[in-house]
Amino acid sequence: MTKIGTCVIVGASHAGVNAAFALRKEGWEGEITLVDIDPMLPYHRPPLSKALLSNEEPIEKYCLKSADSYTGENIYLKLGYKVEAIDRKQQSVSLVGGELLPYKKLILATGARALVPPIEGIETSTNLYFLRTASDALHIRERLQHSPQKRVVVIGGGYIGLEVAASLRKLDVEVTVLEREDRLMARVTAPELSDYFQGLHEENGGKICTGKTVTKIEPLGNGSKVICADGSSFLADIVVVGVGILVNTELAEQAGLEIEDGIKVDATARTSDAHIYAIGDCSFHYNPHYNQYIRLESVQNAVDQAKVAAAAICGKDVTYDAIPWFWSDQYDVKLQMVGLSQGYDEALVRRESNNHKAFSIWYFKEGNLLAVDAVNNARAYMMGTKIIERNKRIDKSKLIDPEVELRPANFLSA
Ligand code: NAP
Repeated sequence: MTKIGTCVIVGASHAGVNAAFALRKEGWEGEITLVDIDPMLPYHRPPLSKALLSNEEPIEKYCLKSADSYTGENIYLKLGYKVEAIDRKQQSVSLVGGELLPYKKLILATGARALVPPIEGIETSTNLYFLRTASDALHIRERLQHSPQKRVVVIGGGYIGLEVAASLRKLDVEVTVLEREDRLMARVTAPELSDYFQGLHEENGGKICTGKTVTKIEPLGNGSKVICADGSSFLADIVVVGVGILVNTELAEQAGLEIEDGIKVDATARTSDAHIYAIGDCSFHYNPHYNQYIRLESVQNAVDQAKVAAAAICGKDVTYDAIPWFWSDQYDVKLQMVGLSQGYDEALVRRESNNHKAFSIWYFKEGNLLAVDAVNNARAYMMGTKIIERNKRIDKSKLIDPEVELRPANFLSA
């Protein structure tokens, strides 16, 4: 095996782990080494802001693969190790502590880290948590268990903030979300959806404050005072911050790989170095459906790009052209999103006559369907996916008529 060489994968989350198993499936006969600074057996990230926070389940329940699966596929895990540098000439990566791992092929699945916003006092707050890793989620859970008072202030009304808020409300915790924009999830959705989610949180007892830029956090007793730019302040026993991410491109940058909004790759996920691939949240790739380079923060992208990179490494003729999709669970509501709505010039809302809890928002640009956000409406999500895939135009007047059944044949216009 050693003669064939090793594929080293840096980053053992959804992208890295899927790449390792896909390499075996595609017939990679060399060694595979998966390195990650996180010492835990790789786990699913979506439950971190959902089920893991609101129940007592152990993190082991959410492992991506069992320890035996790695052994079974001869995938060597190096967990708790930080990669310090890539030597492209020697084709090796060095770990902190000096160990060198030679590679035949290298896959960067380095992902992203939580953004630390410029808030005075944030570095010294002892009751403040980010949520990116399992250890972050477990620390929040533990702190809540030991906190006699449970007032949580969540900074940021994006996916993390809202999913955390919903999970904590299930535990009857007093939750206040402070969002800088004038509406929730403003980065990714239309105002109609922001209003809907604001209403949903308020109905469930969550306090939502928009137009609040947190600028300072002061210690106060065992908790803290969270202060906004407009002078308002909120008392918190625990503060959770979810204000976006920073892409981990440093290793690639130091190695001289081409970087834009992430590590730039071609349609096979290969970087500007023929022996190095980049997949998942850290990769900046071309999407043919939207005719542009994009970077995605989603499990779908991590998994699909991992498969493409593995196949390409094993000599298969493949290209990455998936349509992005995302989901979010908040309270009993399932939000499914397909496509990218950025740049839309029209958003149409469709309601369902037979289910008042289901609706969908359809985003168009110059008449072409870009994306669909479906609330409790798997059918709208699936139909949107098919129409975007086929790049078809649809009859909008029929689309917004709740009496016309959601089936592609009923909407496709000539
Ligand atoms: P996000 O979706 O970018 O939302 C962060 C929000 O915080 C933004 O609206 C931002 O406003 C606001 N904000 C920034 N600074 C603030 C301040 N000082 N005070 C108050 N609000 C402030 O980021 P996220 O929720 O942290 O998510 C992080 C990552 O996890 C993303 O990659 C996301 O896709 C991923 N994730 C996804 C899911 C899912 O798909 N269901 C679930 C959890 C996490 P501005 O836009 O003005 O900066």
